Amino acid sequence: MAGNLFDSTIFGDAAHALEFIGGVLQASTEYSIIGLGFDGTILLWNEGARRLYGYEPEEVVGKANYAILHTPEDIQTDAPHKVLAAASKSGKWEGTVPRRHKNGRQFIARVVITPRREASGKILGYLLISRNISQEIRLTEERQTELDARTLAETALRDSEARYRIVAETATDAIISFDEAGKILFVNTAAERIFGYVVAEMLQQSLTLLIPGSLTVHDNPAGTRKSVDEQKYVYSPAVELSGRHRDGHLIPLEVSIGEYRQHRVRIFTAVVRDVTERKHAEEQVHYLAHHDALTGLPNRVLFRDRISQMIAQARRNRQRMAVLFLDLDGFKYINDSLGHQVGDELLRGVAERLRTCLRQGDSIGRLGGDEFVVSLPIYEEGRDAVSIAEKILTALWEPFQVGQEELHVSGSIGISLYPTDGEDAEALMRAADSAMYYAKEKGRNNYQFFTPRLNDVAQRRQVLVNRLHHALSRDEFTLVYQPLVELNGGKIFGGEALLRWHRPDVGLVLPSEFIRVTEETGLITAIGEWVLRQACGQLKQWRERGYLNLRIAVNLSSEQFRRPGLFDLVVRILRDSGVPAVALDFEITEGVLMEQTPENIEILRRLAGIGIQLAVDDFGTGYSSLAYLHRFPIDSIKIDRTFVHRMVQDANDSEIVSAIIAMAGRLKLGVIAEGVESAEQADFLRAQGCRAAQGFYYHEPVSAQAFGALLDEQSVRFS
Ligand code: C2E
Ligand code: CA
Ligand code: CA
Repeated sequence: MAGNLFDSTIFGDAAHALEFIGGVLQASTEYSIIGLGFDGTILLWNEGARRLYGYEPEEVVGKANYAILHTPEDIQTDAPHKVLAAASKSGKWEGTVPRRHKNGRQFIARVVITPRREASGKILGYLLISRNISQEIRLTEERQTELDARTLAETALRDSEARYRIVAETATDAIISFDEAGKILFVNTAAERIFGYVVAEMLQQSLTLLIPGSLTVHDNPAGTRKSVDEQKYVYSPAVELSGRHRDGHLIPLEVSIGEYRQHRVRIFTAVVRDVTERKHAEEQVHYLAHHDALTGLPNRVLFRDRISQMIAQARRNRQRMAVLFLDLDGFKYINDSLGHQVGDELLRGVAERLRTCLRQGDSIGRLGGDEFVVSLPIYEEGRDAVSIAEKILTALWEPFQVGQEELHVSGSIGISLYPTDGEDAEALMRAADSAMYYAKEKGRNNYQFFTPRLNDVAQRRQVLVNRLHHALSRDEFTLVYQPLVELNGGKIFGGEALLRWHRPDVGLVLPSEFIRVTEETGLITAIGEWVLRQACGQLKQWRERGYLNLRIAVNLSSEQFRRPGLFDLVVRILRDSGVPAVALDFEITEGVLMEQTPENIEILRRLAGIGIQLAVDDFGTGYSSLAYLHRFPIDSIKIDRTFVHRMVQDANDSEIVSAIIAMAGRLKLGVIAEGVESAEQADFLRAQGCRAAQGFYYHEPVSAQAFGALLDEQSVRFS
């Protein structure tokens, strides 16, 4: 057993040993190859060893300690033991050292010692490869000064190549040697498998071909310079780098680099392991450990992580952030009565809708059961949290279709703010959680802040939102119409439809108090549709009474442009009500134009294409630039009433108004002056060449019936 070349205690893997050592050993007279037990006992002794050290295998195998190869001086300083210890510590020991022949003669040898380990890491023994280089050293010393670095590199290379061939070719890791400039001097065949090139293609190439730009060999990768000089060979700990395969794809690698110095030349050797599979497995495990299997959302662990990151960022930027804790109302009942499958399906649906409520940079997670959490940076005091909470409640409002069931759920949301309510993830989640319970107590389907002061403000808003949710179905909206008149003579040529809300508990509510909230919650989509239908239906009636030239203007919120399907909706409503598009005006804000998204431009083109006239509302308050108007199919502008109000007293405002009117004329745009309240204002506008107006001086907004009466009266007057 002892001395058997294929002894698996030496090579760890007998099959590997069989494959290569046999051949190499038979032939190798130049290399002494010696196998050692963990304590240095000689277990294997080849022909090269016999020639180099003079002992017959029978004399030493199983009988002697490898210390007999050392000089007496070495033995005195305990070098044999130290060398083995160094090899086990850094994975390899290499040195140019004095050695002793059986006959007592000393010579200089290159010695490489590599430890052999069990899978557990326990040392089984060592492989010791040595070669007599006394001759070379003499030669080298004589010629050293003449030799340039390049020749030295080649000498060093020959030396290292031979050394590697024994161990390198069987390795599953790629082994790549390169010089200080990064030129590849040696690669083994395992590199072919990893990088897709054949060896010949890699030799002499830059290492960056395989590992782009990540190795700086000039930094001593092995640690301090001192250790390099002492040992001449040191390994750096493994680092993770990206390699590039011949076909271009990136390969995750684990690379350890050794630096070997021979004379003045530095040769580096990288042991490169392809860790693709391991990475993949790690990612899989990581994903499973951090996500909720049902919804695919981050789980508690990952979410807490995200909050912590967000907090760190908020702290750096002196920003605030919010955590929203959502618990579904009545979920337990659904789950118990309809079964887990329905419950699961519902949770998936909820997760889906929650995702659509978030902005970039917001984060969402499921904590388990029917509990979800959202965290978001706050740019405006408390506001973002409110609008997201409202968006979520609104998103849940629509029933969920699960199989045959139409399920209605609502949610209760608790909100905590950083840093007011807590400075770390744990504290913020606790605060949001308790605020959520408060929301449940308040009757569900609402949100509550952890900080009581904010609750008051939020609560009034919430009542508003809740009421708005019902306003459509309870028929609480009406439209009033404000006449648009010709400045010369005051003839009514059209009307602007304006929304009114008759709130049962409060009375009449004007749009300024609720339009913004409907935009923020998305309710504007449904309300806007109602307005359009209503206005078109009304227009149809007036047309039937003979007012075929009457134009009706409808306000469109920029929020309505953001949702898909606006154009199709308009077409459908026009068809349903039987009103020609040319009788309809849309009033849009400068914001819609300024956004200039391809979608917005496209919708505007298509609306104009079917004959709808487009007016820019509140002109002058936004970006006040006529210059960009020609890029859009705009027909007219409405000068904002603030300019009209001030123009008579304020020279600046009067100049703005005349400039707008003049430029609009040049751009062939119609102009309507809004908010005309006096004869003086009307005169001024007329003098500037403005031809249309709207304002209390002429008419206040009136009911459809009253508007009809005005038309009738006028047709008598003007006929
Ligand atoms: P707007 O489009 O600028 O509508 C004109 C507003 O000016 C109306 O207020 C009208 O009552 C008021 N107004 C008219 N003449 C005078 C005047 O001589 N002096 C003064 N001080 N005010 C005058 P209202 O009806 O309260 O509407 C306010 C805003 O709400 C509207 O401004 C519009 O932006 C928005 N809005 C109204 N209805 C709708 C709607 O159906 N959809 C959308 N998206 N927004 C609407
Ligand atoms: Ca308007
Ligand atoms: Ca306006």
